[in-house]
Amino acid sequence: MPVRQSNQIQPPSDPVGRDRLRYFEARRPALLETIREFVEIESPSDNKPAADRMGAHLASKFQTRGGRVRIHRAGDFGDNVQIDFPGRAGKPVLLLGHFDTVYPLGTLASMPCRVHGDHLHGPGVLDMKSGVALMLFAIEGLQAWHGQLPRPVTVFLVSDEEVGSSSSRRITEDLARQSGAVLVLEPAAGVRGAVKTARKGVGDYTLTIKGVAAHAGLDPGKGHSAILELARQIAVVAKFNHLPSGVSVNPGVIRGGTRTNVVAAEAVVEIDVRIRSAKQAVGLDRKMRSLTPFDRHCQLAIEGGINRMPMERNPGVAALYKKAKALARQIQWRLEEAAVGGGSDGNFTAAIGIPTLDGMGGVGQGAHALHEHIVIAELPRRAMLLAGMIERA
Ligand SMILES: [Zn+2]
Repeated sequence: MPVRQSNQIQPPSDPVGRDRLRYFEARRPALLETIREFVEIESPSDNKPAADRMGAHLASKFQTRGGRVRIHRAGDFGDNVQIDFPGRAGKPVLLLGHFDTVYPLGTLASMPCRVHGDHLHGPGVLDMKSGVALMLFAIEGLQAWHGQLPRPVTVFLVSDEEVGSSSSRRITEDLARQSGAVLVLEPAAGVRGAVKTARKGVGDYTLTIKGVAAHAGLDPGKGHSAILELARQIAVVAKFNHLPSGVSVNPGVIRGGTRTNVVAAEAVVEIDVRIRSAKQAVGLDRKMRSLTPFDRHCQLAIEGGINRMPMERNPGVAALYKKAKALARQIQWRLEEAAVGGGSDGNFTAAIGIPTLDGMGGVGQGAHALHEHIVIAELPRRAMLLAGMIERA
């Protein structure tokens, strides 16, 4: 609205905010180098030795800044890394991040870490190695300004976020319970860098259908096709979609049958579900579990459930966003908020009632994709915002 904009008087920028921004502008080359360093240590979720190399590197980085490292051993995934920083007073703030990526080992060969204009490209640069680097630099900044951190800070770096956080979830929840607030360094939403104040809940179901095999030519009438039953069940499941209320259901993977001349004895569908509010979980779960066969000679078995409850925009979340907005305003930055469909470990901490603000990390595009990159110019103010939120959250 041009009329309102022309009347709008920009508040003078706050000297503290401005100085801090300048501090991080000066640190930008170092921050960029650190992000590159992190990206160039490949760390796919499913490769424990590689993930552990990254975890150990991060542990030593944070230790150098005065943090006390605690390694949580994990069997199937990389060890999860906790670093505690003492602070002057108050409850700790939890900085939550993950260092696993979705890219298999060797991806750097075809997708090298490189600067292109104002972008830094590379596997995991946005999701979320830049976020981890921002933690390090925000802590450094606070130490430079105050000597000691104004409050205790717990950094928790997870090794298996991209594959459901099974080894880290309990620790994340325990640490959140001991903290006054949780700041999640996942990528910001969109090119305008909005923080995330709501995330959908996420679930996974596997429906397995057992039919009765028969020769498709000799005995077609004796068979009961698991594939035909699967097709009918998928049509039922698709009706569970209710986009206006934020419920979406996607039968994303199917398999079944053995040969064209055999009536299929087995078929399987894997289904991704998303919900907007916690109360939708029970109803959707009940519907999934009450699927009944059309062909009574077929048997259905359903496994799975809601893995991450939604992060809802409750008063605790809204209060954190308000503080973040005020900090951004110090440097005439209008920080936006967004609700997104994807889940993160922030869903866990918000669901147990700890005020959580997500999307505090890098700004960019192409997470999990070939063109994944961050916008370099955004880094200083993201660091400035994080440092301020560590103090105020
Ligand atoms: Zn992520």
